[in-house]
Amino acid sequence: MSLANGRLHMALPGPSIMPDSVLQAMHRPAPDIYDPALHDLAQGLVADLKYVAQTDGNVAIYIANGHGVWEAALSNCIAPGETVLMPATGVFGHGWADMATGIGAEVQVLEHGRNTPIDPERVRAALLADTGRKIKAVLGVHVDTSTSVRSDIAALRAVLDEVGHPALLMADCVASLGCDTVQMDDWGVDVLISASQKGMMVPPGLGFVFFNDRAAQVRAAMPRVSRYWDWGPRANPNLFYEYFGGTAPTHHLWGLRAALDLIKAETIEGVWSRHQTLAQAIWAACDHWGAPVAMNVADIVHRSHAVTSVMIGAPNGDRLREWCTQNTGVSLGIGLGMGDDTDPSASGYFRIGHMGHLNAHMVLGLLGSIEAGLDALCIPHQSGGISAAARVISAASGKAKPADRP
Ligand SMILES: *Cc1c(COP(=O)(O)O)cnc(C)c1O
Repeated sequence: MSLANGRLHMALPGPSIMPDSVLQAMHRPAPDIYDPALHDLAQGLVADLKYVAQTDGNVAIYIANGHGVWEAALSNCIAPGETVLMPATGVFGHGWADMATGIGAEVQVLEHGRNTPIDPERVRAALLADTGRKIKAVLGVHVDTSTSVRSDIAALRAVLDEVGHPALLMADCVASLGCDTVQMDDWGVDVLISASQKGMMVPPGLGFVFFNDRAAQVRAAMPRVSRYWDWGPRANPNLFYEYFGGTAPTHHLWGLRAALDLIKAETIEGVWSRHQTLAQAIWAACDHWGAPVAMNVADIVHRSHAVTSVMIGAPNGDRLREWCTQNTGVSLGIGLGMGDDTDPSASGYFRIGHMGHLNAHMVLGLLGSIEAGLDALCIPHQSGGISAAARVISAASGKAKPADRP
């Protein structure tokens, strides 16, 4: 017997769960794209996207996924033959580095493995060694979605300033925007990219490139930028179609409007703290289950609030995922980047996506499903992880003090 019928819970680290209001906002006939209401819609989205990224800078919206805005950000600032520095943890830094190679950049990769955050001291050493000032940008992935490692982006700005190096700081916040704390201006980020389908709760298809005036000056000095990726007209359009380099992605825009309304109603600080508490509940369960269950990132300071990568020993990661899908209607993420065709270790991992539209009962439900799976598959664990998670939730709600109890 399967108990999976009912609403599927997507605990993949993207695409994430879409709120009903987002889905309903998109369920409409095509509009007249010359309707001035669309212009107002775009202007409102721009203002609210900047609020979410905590910047007074500019934003360009692309009809693209995260890979698209990786290329967009690079295309505006890096000419063929120029150098970028990529301190990379896990999979996604290498993905962005590969994009840079594809546009003809020289890429210096600092490999950080699968469970350590970017080391600012290694970045400092690379910048100090760059006496010819060849490095034009330092690229940092804030949350690596494969390993669930979160790096300190502000620390990279501090190192750039201390060395007095003029390189731009570019941050990939695809996994973190709308989940983990992201403060573009306070952190001194020059270019920040994100996409619609993770913390922003909208289907895949929109990409965002935020950039400050320093980055705009670098763009202005470029020998050429491909027309479609050029962020100039998108961020400062004279005509409506320039926002999107062509026909507006109307339905995505309506969905994004609904998602931003949810974020504004909760406040971005409220969104961050909800994700922090929900992440702590997940970590409490994993800690309680105990060996062989262990989180990939040992130090909580370096753990993302959007995704948790869990080791469980091959092949139990795959067994558990399949069991949860078939029996409880919960889809967990695969052990991305933890092995390849010749190395089966990836099947010893699974990932819990906890991005975007997620509340306490969803987290308790998915953790209960995992605990049922551990039990059903006879994977050793200490039962009661779900209670450990429940205690985090009850404490966060302001558990009654003994004196207040009836
Ligand atoms: C998902 C993700 C990407 C890639 O996004 P796509 O939309 O799949 O192209 C890039 N970086 C990070 C950190 C991600 O989580």
